[in-house]
Amino acid sequence: MFLTVHGTAGAIIGLQTGNPLLAFLFGLISHYIFDMIPHGDEKMIADHQNVSPQEIKKIAQIGSIDGLTMLFLLGGLLYSGRLPLDLAVLFGVAGGILPDFLNAFYQLLKFKWLKFHYDFHLWLHGVLKKFAVSFKTGLAIQAAILAVLLWRVV
Ligand SMILES: [Zn+2]
Repeated sequence: MFLTVHGTAGAIIGLQTGNPLLAFLFGLISHYIFDMIPHGDEKMIADHQNVSPQEIKKIAQIGSIDGLTMLFLLGGLLYSGRLPLDLAVLFGVAGGILPDFLNAFYQLLKFKWLKFHYDFHLWLHGVLKKFAVSFKTGLAIQAAILAVLLWRVV
């Protein structure tokens, strides 16, 4: 799922908890729960244990656009006063997006200590694979989830 969705969920969790530690923990847990929802990016990589340079380039491009979208969205919410700039919100965002950064580190640097997390994260994506959707449908699902999340602060 996109960082924009995970980061926004983490920010709202931070807003709701008001506690940096809880925000980070529940932001992290929310990432794994959201990733179980079929969201259309399951086939972006053919073989997750052997990611090609072209696939890494494609993921880096999409991830960069996604990361900037998240920063502009959350920055806009902070600037407009709809989200407070406090530690709970920042830690919620950090927890919400951390798993995808750990995955990126694993894919790029092959740290063995991250393999368990990488495999767990991948497994979660496949929990509901019999309900797998196309990339376009996944975008619609993610947009709907984002709209529900934003409804909490807009
Ligand atoms: Zn993820």
